[in-house]
Amino acid sequence: MNQIQDLQIKCSNKKHDCIVQLACFNECCNANRIYCFECLRLGDHIAHPNDQYDWKKIFQVIEQIRQQSDELIKQLTSSIEKIQKSFSLLCQALKSKYQLSKEQIQKFEINQFNQALDNMLKYNRIAQGIQLDIEQCSNDTFIQINKIITELKLNELIYYKLNDQQIVQAEEFFQKGFKLYSDDKYKEAIDYLDQTLLINPNHILALQFKAFSLRLLGKYNDAIIWADRILLIDSSHIDLLYLKGWCLQALFKYSEAISYYDKVIQFDPNFFDVKLLKTQCEKKLSQD
Ligand SMILES: [Zn+2]
Ligand SMILES: [Zn+2]
Repeated sequence: MNQIQDLQIKCSNKKHDCIVQLACFNECCNANRIYCFECLRLGDHIAHPNDQYDWKKIFQVIEQIRQQSDELIKQLTSSIEKIQKSFSLLCQALKSKYQLSKEQIQKFEINQFNQALDNMLKYNRIAQGIQLDIEQCSNDTFIQINKIITELKLNELIYYKLNDQQIVQAEEFFQKGFKLYSDDKYKEAIDYLDQTLLINPNHILALQFKAFSLRLLGKYNDAIIWADRILLIDSSHIDLLYLKGWCLQALFKYSEAISYYDKVIQFDPNFFDVKLLKTQCEKKLSQD
């Protein structure tokens, strides 16, 4: 802790030959969060003087947020545990209703046979319903969680640097994924691209080919989530702008698709069939 107390950092404004002294805790402030007296004198935080503190208060805040986020993780874990409990009850119910043992059957009376046969005949319809319902909500949860992860990671400051071994490993996974993508094995490709991203969440090519693979698997919403991840880093990435437009069109969101095709046209009017796709969307809109 003493080491922290003795820590001295130079102001990020290179013209200021001072160490930082203050921190701004105003949530909406766009100026440097920690700064020197020279910054203060120049009026960087003049609009909210009550939010300025000794910069070392930052360590208190970091610790506070660490504890709060730990609490959040516990709450989230308990939500998932609730789902797991219900799920295992569902499995038990399915087993006891539809997995009858020979011993059980031998002891059946006539009305139990009646009921058992009735259950078996209705099985397919009921199974289909369960499968649809559960798949729907698990997909929704999956998409929602992935969206949150993407949003969290987007603004993530990289606190660590990859070491050489991690860079080599990420590259090996990416090359395997890329080979599978080239062989039209998109699902398998995604497995390797995910491994790349686990090591390096900002591996642009892994992000890009994951988005491409998802599109080719018909998972347009997911493809958009991953395309967005790159577009926030590089808003003029033409391949991803095109991909996002294409997915939006496939999801019948024609106006939104056009806005992405327009961006592609702005960068390269002859990019693939972008003008043709835009015309298709306009036609659809005029029919509505
Ligand atoms: Zn300064
Ligand atoms: Zn401020």
